[in-house]
Parts: sequence; C-alpha cells; structure tokens
Amino acid sequence: ATMPPLLSAIATAGRHGVLVKSAVAMERLGEIDTAALDKTGTLTEGTPEVTDVTPLPGSGLDEDSLLALAAAAEHPSEHPLARAIVGAARGRGLRIAPAGDFVATPGWGVSAVVEGREVRVGRVEDSVDRGREVDGMRESADRRREGVDGMRDLADRRLGVDDMQDLADRTPAPVDGMRHPAATPTPTPTPPPGTTVLITVDATPAGTLTLTDRLRPAAPAATAALTALTGTTPVLLTGDNAQAAARVADATGITDIRADLLPEDKVNAVRELQLSGRKVLFVGDGVNDAPALAAAHSAVAMGRAGSDLALETADAVVVRDDLTAIPAVVRLSRTARRLVL
Ligand code: ADP
Ligand code: MG
Repeated sequence: ATMPPLLSAIATAGRHGVLVKSAVAMERLGEIDTAALDKTGTLTEGTPEVTDVTPLPGSGLDEDSLLALAAAAEHPSEHPLARAIVGAARGRGLRIAPAGDFVATPGWGVSAVVEGREVRVGRVEDSVDRGREVDGMRESADRRREGVDGMRDLADRRLGVDDMQDLADRTPAPVDGMRHPAATPTPTPTPPPGTTVLITVDATPAGTLTLTDRLRPAAPAATAALTALTGTTPVLLTGDNAQAAARVADATGITDIRADLLPEDKVNAVRELQLSGRKVLFVGDGVNDAPALAAAHSAVAMGRAGSDLALETADAVVVRDDLTAIPAVVRLSRTARRLVL
C-alpha cells in the first residue's frame, strides 16, 4: 500500500530534522498564516556568554565574588542565562556554593539562599521592586506557584469557549502591525547585544551581569521563508528588553516586535492574533514559552537546548538546530494536504 500523504510527510520531515508528533500536527503546520517567534534560544543560539561583570560600588563585592554568588543562585536553573552564568564562574575557577530555597520565575529570573544571604538574579526592570518586598516568605510562595508548575497549568489548559469570550471581552483592541506587506529582510551580521541582569543580595542591588547571545546563522533565511509562506513578517515575542529584541529583529528582517513579555503576555499575544482570525505558528524553546505553545494553532519547539516542558507541549520538535527546517515542513504539509483533499 502507498503511505498516506501526511504520514509520508512526517517521514520526510524527520529527514529534515523535524520530529512531527502526529498526522494532525503535520496537517496543522500547513494551515498556519502567521508566525510568532521567541527570541532567546529560538532565533538566537541560546548559549549566551557573560561579557561583563559589574559589582556596584558599596556592595563589598568584587567581580569574582559577585559572579560566584550569581552562579550559586542560578545553579539549579535550566535557563540559558543560568547556564551561561554558571559556565562563566566555572571558567574563572570559582567555587559555586550550594543554594537553598531555590525559586525560578519564568520570564523573570531566580532567587535562592546562598551562605545565609538571599540572592536574586533577574530582569533589571523590576528586580529592585521585588527585592524590596518585605514579606519575603509570602512572595516566594507566590512565585513558586507562578513558576514551572504555573507554566504547566497554563500549558495544560486547552483554550475553551469561555476563555475565548473572556479574552475577547478583555482585549477589544485590534492587533497592530499584522497586515503590512511582506518586507524584504535585510540581514546584517551584527551580533545581538547584551542582556543585563541585576543581582540583589538581601534585597540590596549588588551588581549586574551582561550576557551576549549569537543569532542562529539560519535565522534570517528562516524568517524570510516564513514571510514568503504566510505573506506577513513573523512577530517577535520575547521576555527580553526592547533593545535586545530590536537588534535581533533588525538582523532577521522582523518588524513586529513585542518585548518585555511575561509568559502570560506571550500566550495573550498568540490568542489575540488568533482571535483576529490568524492561525498562528509559534516557535519557542523555554519553560516560559509553554503556555504560548499550547495556545498556538501549531507549535514547534527547538529541541537541542529546549526545556522538557516546551518539547512536551509542542506539536513538532526541531531536533537538528536548523531553523530553515521549519518553513520546509510547512511547505511539506501544504503539499501533503493538497494530496489528501
Ligand atoms: P525569551 O522570551 O527571550 O526567551 P525569557 O522569558 O526566558 O526570554 O527571559 C526574559 C528575561 O527574564 C531575560 O532577558 C532576563 O532578563 C530574565 N531572566 C529569565 N530567566 C532568568 C534567569 N534564570 N536568570 C536571570 N535572568 C533571567
Ligand atoms: Mg526562549
């Protein structure tokens, strides 16, 4: 017997390095008309390097002790920034102390007790406010609820009619910037700039680390191919700051940038696009991407460095880190669907 077109498309996708989990998943890939892409670990390699260590004057810390504290707090985390910070500390031969009471907050950062001090490493924008909270115990309990378990809850929740209505009521504004004509990408080889994270020790700012990631070489070509396939430029959805996002957008030809997004903002962005009638392909890698992956019409996870939750939630996994395999699989699906219909 001849293999059904969608199944043979799955086999071909496998040869392209994309593991598509089912015939339905294969079919949905070909239905998408909009791409939404995560930045860190998706368009970028997700293997950043620490390029700057700056203790604040008055913190009583030198570069090495600041880096060692940050690495101790980050050690249990699977986030790419955490791995980079731990790697940098090891590279300098620093001792990484054991950490207790570890809490990771997707889209924000981590907190842990290191040698009796509460160390937080996270987004500069709101670290100080969080660090100043008096009732640390309550806050850390809240955060634990918002953490990986919260991501799993959000990812597990299928989008029901009530949610759709609820969201429609709450977000009446139309989605901007989705219908401009396909722009010609103008790739530039500039590396993306650093992401700066703030370290607080016992709620007092102690210093910053800057981490620099590299664009994936295939990112401009993959973005251009997705633009050609959907007729709109992909949307960049990132928890990183606007400046870091803009550099990646410039290098890939993306014009629609949404930065400083919390995981729930990413899922809302996907849902808004879908409520406006789009069928969204979301590509991501992190725990923080899982809710958006679950909400998207079609979801692809970056496999090599991707978090387990992202891989579980996605419809397809890119197992060889080649981004151009994604538009290739969309094309495959479209061909297979024409044969089925
Ligand atoms: P993206 O959406 O681009 O993949 P994330 O949502 O994972 O990024 O992270 C957004 C921002 O939150 C990071 O740029 C960083 O400032 C902060 N952050 C997240 N996790 C960590 C961590 N483990 N350590 C330090 N900062 C973190
Ligand atoms: Mg990511």
